[in-house]
Amino acid sequence: ALRAPTVAFDNSYARLPPQFFADQVPTPVAAPQLIKFNEVLARELGLDVEALKQNAAAIFSGNELLPGSQPIAMAYAGHQFGNFVPQLGDGRAILLGEVKDCHGRRRDIQLKGPGPTPFSRRGDGRAALGPVLREYIVSEAMHALGIPTTRALAAVTTGEPVYREEVLPGAIFTRVAASHIRVGTFQFFAARGDTDSLKIMADYVIGRHYPDIGDRANPYLALLEAVADRQAALIARWLHVGFIHGVMNTDNMTVSGETIDFGPCAFMDAYDPATVFSSIDRNGRYAYANQPAIGQWNLARLGETLIPLIDPSVDTAIELANVVIKAYGERFQTYWLAGMRAKIGLLNEEEGDLELIQSLLAAMQQQGADFTLTFRRLAALAAGKEVTDFAAAFNDPQAAAPWLERWRERLARDPRTPAARAAAMRKVNPAFIPRNHRIEQAIETAVEDGDFSLFEALLKVLAAPYEDQPAFAPYAEPPLPAERVLQTFC
Ligand code: AMP
Ligand code: MG
Ligand code: MG
Repeated sequence: ALRAPTVAFDNSYARLPPQFFADQVPTPVAAPQLIKFNEVLARELGLDVEALKQNAAAIFSGNELLPGSQPIAMAYAGHQFGNFVPQLGDGRAILLGEVKDCHGRRRDIQLKGPGPTPFSRRGDGRAALGPVLREYIVSEAMHALGIPTTRALAAVTTGEPVYREEVLPGAIFTRVAASHIRVGTFQFFAARGDTDSLKIMADYVIGRHYPDIGDRANPYLALLEAVADRQAALIARWLHVGFIHGVMNTDNMTVSGETIDFGPCAFMDAYDPATVFSSIDRNGRYAYANQPAIGQWNLARLGETLIPLIDPSVDTAIELANVVIKAYGERFQTYWLAGMRAKIGLLNEEEGDLELIQSLLAAMQQQGADFTLTFRRLAALAAGKEVTDFAAAFNDPQAAAPWLERWRERLARDPRTPAARAAAMRKVNPAFIPRNHRIEQAIETAVEDGDFSLFEALLKVLAAPYEDQPAFAPYAEPPLPAERVLQTFC
């Protein structure tokens, strides 16, 4: 017999003043069908898994509203490719509510693609199947890689078409996030000169994400610093795995420090710092190597919104905020270098390490070396494997030799045993990333044939990215020239 699932919603965002959101229920869809339900995550959220499973398609399409859910669309603004838009908001997303997970952390449960909201502007409020599958695959892969990210709780097809450049099958994605508050949420109130709301927002974020800084002498400056620190750490992690977000607009940067909004994102195959996949990023604003600087630009926009809260004197507030924004650069560099040291197997720190790392990257770029394979094979080398595989990642296998000689010299001064070093390297150099051509294949078979087997296979292999999974060996390989996907669309 069907039992109604009970979910212990506690909707703190919906208790904020009315200018923070609009009440909005999902628009029912014709024939929802479940693609995937993430039971492991559902248990972590303390959800009533068995009851949800019995009615998953209706619930995760928004056709059936769970008791205790108070659905809202959040208001926010944002800089899109550098241009300020004073009102964006959840145009195709509805927050169902918040739950406390098994660690006591508050998490948002949101539908993406549930129909129009007051923020939809000219959009239909819907999502197409391809982008839903991409977000599912990449966000779960990021999580398995150990990178802070929003999560995938469920995906359904709607049984309705969506109209883009072509007619596509519609789908709805259920996203879980520490919160959906963005830099752009602060900008929404700053742009209206609404300092009262801004202060409510800042206090809410401190209480929810940074409770330790609540009693600091200057909590709003401390908030800027805390967000800067999490973003510096996050973007460094992106670079360590070759991730390119693709649309780092201020409305796509969380204040929680989670990666959000997997649109035209992609992982790099061959190493090239100028890599861009997004079809809408014509000037390469969000290219791989630009991401740290864009993070700083976005944080400066957050800093601007906080000026009235930081100090009664505007000059003093700007001065204080500027120190934090400048320090972000050093924070990023520290996180990045620590991670790169780990990737090449170094435990202690030496002056010349940065140069050693840079010269490897330069050789990789020159030699068309696959980013992921090169580091994974370096871990194998550290374990005593012969050099052939590593060298084969370079167009000219001979080109690897001079760098390897310097690396071995450096390792001789590092305290770990080769076995311990190799084991540590394998934990930071994944064998498997969500390669773009694999995602495209999974999307294509799902959209064209209704066949989700490649989607399922990708989820399985990417759930353990640091394990050798011999049965999935082809998934570790870069694309053949004919398989290469050079552009992604959102
Ligand atoms: P994004 O590029 O995904 O960060 O989205 C930017 C803005 O456009 C957000 O306010 C979205 O809610 C809105 N948006 C994107 N697609 C749609 C759509 N199909 N219908 C309504 N709003 C949309
Ligand atoms: Mg967005
Ligand atoms: Mg998006």
